[in-house]
Amino acid sequence: MSGHHCHRCGSSLHPGAMKCSGCMAGVVYGATGAEKNHAAKVGAALMLASWCYLVSFSIPAIVTGVAATLAAAGLFRLAATRARAGYVRTFY
Ligand SMILES: [Zn+2]
Repeated sequence: MSGHHCHRCGSSLHPGAMKCSGCMAGVVYGATGAEKNHAAKVGAALMLASWCYLVSFSIPAIVTGVAATLAAAGLFRLAATRARAGYVRTFY
């Protein structure tokens, strides 16, 4: 873990030290909080974008499916009406 140096004063950093012994600059190991937050925002934006992308395709699909279902129901109702046009039946 040796070989890390302060980016401000150049002092060598003790392994595990939270602050530089030379200038008291904060030491961050790995990703900083800002870098993690940025990555989280990128991930959220990508997820939201892909979700909107999918919805933009699925809404027309839903509308088309509902319209086709209603049209088919209307056609079959009309066909059934015409097929029985000459019928006279009683029911109880
Ligand atoms: Zn320093």
